[in-house]
Parts: sequence; structure tokens; C-alpha cells
Amino acid sequence: MAQILTLNAGSSSIKFALFDANTLDEPVRGQVEGLGTHPRLSARTANGEETDKNLEDGTVGDHASALKAILALIEASLSDVHIEAVGHRVVHGGLDYAAPVVIDAERLADLETLIPLAPLHQPYNLSGIRAAEAAFPDSMQVACFDTAFHRHHPWVNDTYALPPKFYDEGIRRYGFHGLSYEYVIQTLQQIAPTHAAGRVVVSHLGNGASMCAIQGGQSVGSTMGFTALDGLPMGTRCGQLDPGVVLYLMMEKGLSASEIETLLYTDSGLKGLSGLSNDMRELEAAGTPQARRAIDYFVFRIRRELGAMAAILAGLDALVFCGGIGENAWRIRECVCQNFGWLGLELDETLNRAGETIVSSRRSRVRVFIIRTNEELMIARHTAAKREAAGHSIVVA
Ligand code: ADP
Repeated sequence: MAQILTLNAGSSSIKFALFDANTLDEPVRGQVEGLGTHPRLSARTANGEETDKNLEDGTVGDHASALKAILALIEASLSDVHIEAVGHRVVHGGLDYAAPVVIDAERLADLETLIPLAPLHQPYNLSGIRAAEAAFPDSMQVACFDTAFHRHHPWVNDTYALPPKFYDEGIRRYGFHGLSYEYVIQTLQQIAPTHAAGRVVVSHLGNGASMCAIQGGQSVGSTMGFTALDGLPMGTRCGQLDPGVVLYLMMEKGLSASEIETLLYTDSGLKGLSGLSNDMRELEAAGTPQARRAIDYFVFRIRRELGAMAAILAGLDALVFCGGIGENAWRIRECVCQNFGWLGLELDETLNRAGETIVSSRRSRVRVFIIRTNEELMIARHTAAKREAAGHSIVVA
């Protein structure tokens, strides 16, 4: 039996999922977390069995050794393992990659040149590729980019108002979470094709959060820009910020670039505002004034972006919630959708609280959906397509 493995390698973790290469059924999914500190491997198999293993015996310290532990777990869970292709989540595809690519040495070197554009993610994504090349030398490696879905933005949504040489050098609004948006729009095409073909806003609300304006199935705008810092406030990232604040912090307060980086990436957002946690569940449970304010700001920014996106789309046919918060936090969805009657958008409170797929009321002109995103399956689909293009027959689910 042939399989496709998907990997999402971060600084201290690797998330993985294994798919049957022909049916795209998923027998195992899991992650190694705590690389460099307290590594653990957790996984769930198709028959619902959960594993959680401490890897602190000193043998697992980097991506290569983590991948060995993952492979050992896969081999223990399945009788017949033959990983023919590995699909990788790669955060940045720069200007040139508007679609997934099969990796060879030249491509890998090219993707390394993009590290300065995403220094906190790209190096780890690429070390995941190197680890997989070493572990599966005969398998096809496919890179799937988080920026690719946004590569065809109209110029006004792609540029900043800087002299054009900066645009030409690649200082652009790339947008991220593209694999999630692509999966969501493909799912919407199956469940509500007319809406999917129209004016859609997708809110990916997880630890990282962004929104995407989609028209005719194509991304036309993202709240994220040159980096994944812009737009909505996130678990620990600040979201939209006047660049004058950065200048002030540097020039008046004497903060170094790395101090500002830490502030904006890891000490801000829900965590910074609440002084409590980056985790929405904890904030909802805490109910303190600071937690409330953090949630209020989060909701306010989503509403503001929704209005802006409806304006650039000249109306709205569908709003989709996804990501850990979008899929599970009914209160947040309720607050986001309040008082949008002027746009023809009204939630059904009962459906929303129950977390149904369609949560708008019968008389709402805008249909509101909850779609469980599945970036791993999107990567597996792309990888399967590359495998098929290379001559393997396939029946995509
Ligand atoms: P990541 O971006 O790391 O993949 P997720 O998409 O898993 O993150 O989202 C994590 C966020 O989802 C956390 O803030 C978590 O609190 C929130 N979340 C998950 N389940 C719930 C829930 N039932 N109610 C409120 N928030 C939730």
C-alpha cells in the first residue's frame, strides 16, 4: 500500500498526518512537540486510539530524530508502510511560487533565499524537508506554500505605498494561511457551490488569525501582509500596528530590533492585552476585565476587517469561520456577527451554539458557515496531484 506523509515543521514541533495515497483516507495524525526542551509525541489513529509518549530519553532533539520517532510510531500502527511522497507545509513561496512544487536540490536552495522573508518559520520548514529527504530518499518531496493561494491579488492589494523599488524587491502583501483558505473554499464548492462562486470572506481564527476575501474562488485580499504579523490580533502577535510605533520604540525607547520582534510576535495579541493567556478558552473562562478587553479587541478587529472586505467585494454572499476559535467558540462568532443586519447577515443563535455547518438564519441573505479546516488534507491533495503528474494512478477522495 502506498502512502503520503504530510509534515508541518516548526521551531519546536513537527505536525504530521499519514494518508492512503490512493483514497486519501487518513490512518494516523499527530505531532512531536517540545523539541529542544521536553519532546513528546502524541498521535491519533483512524480507529480512535490515542498515543502520548514522552521522548525525553535524549534521542530526540532535532527534526531528523523527531521524524524517526514519527516513523517508528507509524510502523507500529500500520502493517504495510510505504511512504511514496512527502508533502511539506512551507510558509513562504516568495514571488515565484504560486503553486506547489516538487523539491530538488536547486529548488531547496531557492527556497532558502526566502528565509529572510519568514525567519521564524521558513528555516524550520526547510529543515523538515531535509530530514524527510534523509529518511525517505526514494520518495517525492513536495513543497506547498502558505502564500501561494494569494499570489494573484490585484496590485492595490499587493502593494504598500512605498516607492516602487521596494515592491520590485518583494516588499509586498503576501498573505498567509493559504492552504487553509484553499481547503475551505474547496469544501464550500462541494456543500454550497453557488455561494463558493460568489463573494466570500473566510475568517481563519486560531492561534494565528487572518481573514481572506475570495471572489470567484480566488483570493483577492488578506489581512496578513508582508509577514504574518499584520491584520487581526492573534494569540501572541499584535496584528495591525502603526509602523510609527516601531520607530518610536526604537528611537525614543531604545528597544533593539530583537526586543521589538519579541514584543510583537510573542508578548502581544490576546496574551499581551489580557496579561493572562493566549488561549481563547482560558480568556472566556477567566471573565476578568482584562480578558474581556482582549476579547473585545479581537472581535472588534474581525468586524472591522469584515466590513472592509465586504466593501472591496462589493457585497457578501458567504462568511466562513474556521480555525480553533472560529470552529469552536460560539460566543466569538455571535459577537462578530452582531448588528450586521445592514449587510443582510444574521446568525441563528441556536444553530450557532450547536456548531452546525450553516449557522445563519433562514432570512439571512449572507450565508454563514463553520468549516473545519484541514491543511494536512490540502497538502496531501497537492502532493497526490504531483504524484499523479509523475505517472502514478490515483483516485482522489
Ligand atoms: P493554531 O493556529 O496553533 O493551529 P488552533 O487553530 O488550534 O491554533 O486554535 C487555537 C485556539 O482555538 C486557542 O485560542 C484555543 O483556545 C481556541 N479554542 C479551541 N477550542 C475552543 C473552544 N471550545 N472555545 C473557545 N476557544 C477554543
